[in-house]
Amino acid sequence: MKVLVTGGAGYIGSVVASQLLDADHDVVVLDDLSTGHADAVDGRAAFVKGTLREQARPVLASGGFDAVLHFAAKSLVGESVERPDVYWDGNLGETLALLDAMRATGVKKIVFSSTAAVYGEPETVPITEDAPARPGNPYGATKLAIDVALTEFARLNGFGAVSLRYFNVAGAHGALAERHAVETHLIPNVLRAAVTDEPVSVFGSDYSTADGTCVRDYIHVTDLGRAHLLALAVCEPGAHMIYNLGNGAGYSVQEVIEVCRQVTGRPIAAMDAPRRPGDPDVLIASSEAIRADLGWEPVLGLTTMVEDAWREFPR
Ligand code: UDP
Repeated sequence: MKVLVTGGAGYIGSVVASQLLDADHDVVVLDDLSTGHADAVDGRAAFVKGTLREQARPVLASGGFDAVLHFAAKSLVGESVERPDVYWDGNLGETLALLDAMRATGVKKIVFSSTAAVYGEPETVPITEDAPARPGNPYGATKLAIDVALTEFARLNGFGAVSLRYFNVAGAHGALAERHAVETHLIPNVLRAAVTDEPVSVFGSDYSTADGTCVRDYIHVTDLGRAHLLALAVCEPGAHMIYNLGNGAGYSVQEVIEVCRQVTGRPIAAMDAPRRPGDPDVLIASSEAIRADLGWEPVLGLTTMVEDAWREFPR
């Protein structure tokens, strides 16, 4: 297949682009490099720098595309609370431009990078795809709005769409690792503490969990990436499928820090800090649907995620 990968210079998009190339697909990466890195774009891919509004249509109109894998997005929850306008425009607005370009050029298959943030505070865990979607912040709301738009484009325009709702993505795929200018994620922040000897902040230790810290479902970026190739193969005209992607197992913040201590062999100091607004106690995915429908299985556990992230961690 010939595939357009939006956001292919970012963490997850670059991994999936490289997996597509390994599977002999043709890849064109479109990324405005606002948060991505040009050196993360696989040398075997063609690269176009620009926004979706500027470039999606001319790129798709250049011909031969079978599908779009859509990763380009703004993804900082806190920033989305401060600047919802920027998130609605950057995520929903840019995506509508992409969908319009797809409709105009007859490219109708899309795999979309959605998020567990669409569920907000869950009533029950593990979270299944039919759980109520009540996002707790503009970031999750913009991703949910895109999921709604995809359902409509499937119904009215014959698009074949798959949304993958990621839980906590971690690890590295070869040298492709998380490199965010503003790093909010737990594992890189713990590894930063291993390198700098500054303590890592534990946001809340009075949650309703066994050790009082939040429990999350961590998934290796390589496992996550493989799901996109399976999804691409099942995009069917007129259908929008939605799948959660996680391991189905939860680890607390304290447990993650402990695994990081074991992997790095460094003491890693941790200090209690106030809760981060909007953090639910426990988020664990039910990935039963994608296992049953696509035969996807996660194979890489938390220790491998931390080992791979640590191997690539700047120090
Ligand atoms: N967390 C923390 N210290 C950090 C970063 C994150 O205690 O420096 C906690 C955060 O409050 C949450 C969990 O680790 O309970 C995972 O946070 P992350 O930002 O990695 O992912 P999220 O679950 O918010 O998508």
